[in-house]
Amino acid sequence: MQAPLAFAAAPGFRAAMTDARPTPGVMQTLAPGIRRLLAPNPSPMTHWGTNTHILGEGAVTVLDPGPAIRAHYAAILAGLAPGERVARVLVSHPHLDHSPLARPLAEASDARVSGFGPPEAGRSAVMTDLAARGLASGGEGVDHGFAPDQRIEDGERIEIGNGATLEAVWTPGHFAGHLSFALGDVVFTGDHVMGWASTLISPPDGDLTAFLASCHRLAARKARLFLPAHGAPVTDPAARLDWLLAHRRNREAEILAALAQGPATPEALARAIYTDTPAALLPAAARNVFAHLIDLTTRDITRASPQIAADATFERIGT
Ligand SMILES: [Zn+2]
Repeated sequence: MQAPLAFAAAPGFRAAMTDARPTPGVMQTLAPGIRRLLAPNPSPMTHWGTNTHILGEGAVTVLDPGPAIRAHYAAILAGLAPGERVARVLVSHPHLDHSPLARPLAEASDARVSGFGPPEAGRSAVMTDLAARGLASGGEGVDHGFAPDQRIEDGERIEIGNGATLEAVWTPGHFAGHLSFALGDVVFTGDHVMGWASTLISPPDGDLTAFLASCHRLAARKARLFLPAHGAPVTDPAARLDWLLAHRRNREAEILAALAQGPATPEALARAIYTDTPAALLPAAARNVFAHLIDLTTRDITRASPQIAADATFERIGT
C-alpha cells in the first residue's frame, strides 16, 4: 500500500471528496489501500448510510462492517479483488449501524473482531453511576451482544499490511468506547466527527464532557483529512472541529439562557430551543440537551432535582 500522501493523486479522489451520495453496494477506491462501501441504511440518524472502509490490499482490514443487512454483507465480500480476503474486522463503536456484521464477516473469513470492548467499556464514573441506577434511559441503537475477540487500547498500533500502520485513538463522546483510527495524517473518525452534522450525544453512552476533550485531542493531531462513518470526507479537519466546539458552546449558551426563565426538564428545554426541528427528532434533541445538563451539573453551573436523571428538573445555580 502506498503512503497516504499519495491520496490526493489517487484516481477518484476528487470525485470521492464531493458531497455526492455514493451508490450503496458499489466499492469506491478513495486512495491506494483505502476503499469505501456505502451500506443501504439511510435515515435521519445515519444520513446517507454507514460508510464501511476497507483498508489495505490482499489481506484486508474492514472498518465498521455495518448493519445486519444481507446485501451489504454480500457487497463487502463481492467487492474485494480476486484472491483478497478479510484478515481483520475493526469496529469504531458497537452501535447497530456499525458492528452487527462484524461477527458473521469474521467467522466467514477466519478473522478476528477488534474493538474497544463490550458496550459499557470506557464509561466515566458519572455515566456508570447513571446507568447503574437506571436514570439515564438512552441506550438507543446499542449492539448489546458486541464482544470483540481482541480489545484495542488507546494508542495501540495495528499493522494492516505493506508496512502501513493504523493508530487507535480513543475518542469517547458519542460512545464511551469509541475509537478513531489514524493512518498517517488521515483519521477515520467513525461517528465522532461526521461528514454532515453534529453527532448525537445520548447519555449514558454519550458523554459531552468526554466529547469536547476528544475534539481537542483530535485537533492536536493536525490531521489533513477525516474519513467519517457517515457522510462525505471532511477536507478541513481543523475548521470542522472548531465548528463542532463552537456549536456545543452555542448550545450550552442557549440552554443557560432558557434556564434563566426558570427550572426545566431536558424535554421542555429541547422544545424551547430546537424550534426548527421536526417533532420526530425532538426526543433525540432532548438527549443532547440532557448531555449538556450533565456536563453543566458536574461543573457546578446547574443543579438537578431530585438528582441527575433524564426526567429531572434542572436549574441554574446562583441566578
Ligand atoms: Zn453510526
